[in-house]
Amino acid sequence: MQIIIDEIASNMMQLQDKGNVASYIPELAKIDANQFAISVALPNGEIFNAGCFKTLFSIQSISKVFTLTLALDKLGETLWSRVGREPSGDPFNSIVQLEHEHGKPRNPFINAGAIAVADAIMQGHKSSKMLAEILHFVRFLADDQSIGIDENVARCEAHSGARNISLAYFMASFGQFENPVPDVLNTYFSHCSIAMNTEQLAKAGLFLANNGKNPNTGFPIVSSQRAKRINALMLTCGHYDGSGEFAFRVGLPGKSGVGGGILAIAPGKASIAVWSPGLDTIGNSKLGTYALELFAAETGWSVFGD
Ligand code: GLN
Repeated sequence: MQIIIDEIASNMMQLQDKGNVASYIPELAKIDANQFAISVALPNGEIFNAGCFKTLFSIQSISKVFTLTLALDKLGETLWSRVGREPSGDPFNSIVQLEHEHGKPRNPFINAGAIAVADAIMQGHKSSKMLAEILHFVRFLADDQSIGIDENVARCEAHSGARNISLAYFMASFGQFENPVPDVLNTYFSHCSIAMNTEQLAKAGLFLANNGKNPNTGFPIVSSQRAKRINALMLTCGHYDGSGEFAFRVGLPGKSGVGGGILAIAPGKASIAVWSPGLDTIGNSKLGTYALELFAAETGWSVFGD
């Protein structure tokens, strides 16, 4: 495994076209695109790393996997009255479907869907309490108390967040929001601004590769059915309007973020985190996707067979 990922990391560093860092969040626009990291966590507790795997980055939309998991724990199947389970085929920040579908977002991984999930999990609590709970959960999953929120990124997102603010108020206009919109947005912007490195992220995702159980303790995080379903949503919706292309090239459930991270799950085999801040035109990490494509080909771990 170490040989495979060392080779992938060295291949990535040689590529010239690394994509472009997200420019619509000024704090992310400052990041050097010339970075790459990969970590592979196995259910037996082994972890393999290559590249700058200790460098913290903004996990952005990858956090939506953790908030969805919490929401399912709190609300069970009733969550699906607030958010759908279909790929949108539209960009992550699109508003177009919301009007036709009465303010119900297509899935929990597009921005509108994750904002609806943030509203659903708050259940009348203040965003500070909710954020403490989300952080507690992510720290528990990664077994790492040092994980925190990058407040500069969170502030910056709030300042440059006209589109997300519009999405939230547009959804609220259908009368489904249970909490004040500014509080919901604060929860959303802040959970997107959680900073992690690939090693922490691979560990945090391991329950999805291990039938819902934390392999270190054997403690169930979610049922195996729920782990399968979260993986199904990651495969079909985790890369927005690039989800089909990601399934075609990589063949693993995956969730990307505009910080350049991707969490990919090889069920029963590994949780893989990659990071490279340059994005493709859809907003998914360019080298991260390529690295996972090589990784899946090399290991034969595509869910569609080797
Ligand atoms: N926080 C980002 C936003 O709302 C998340 C988008 C993403 O990672 N695709 O725009």
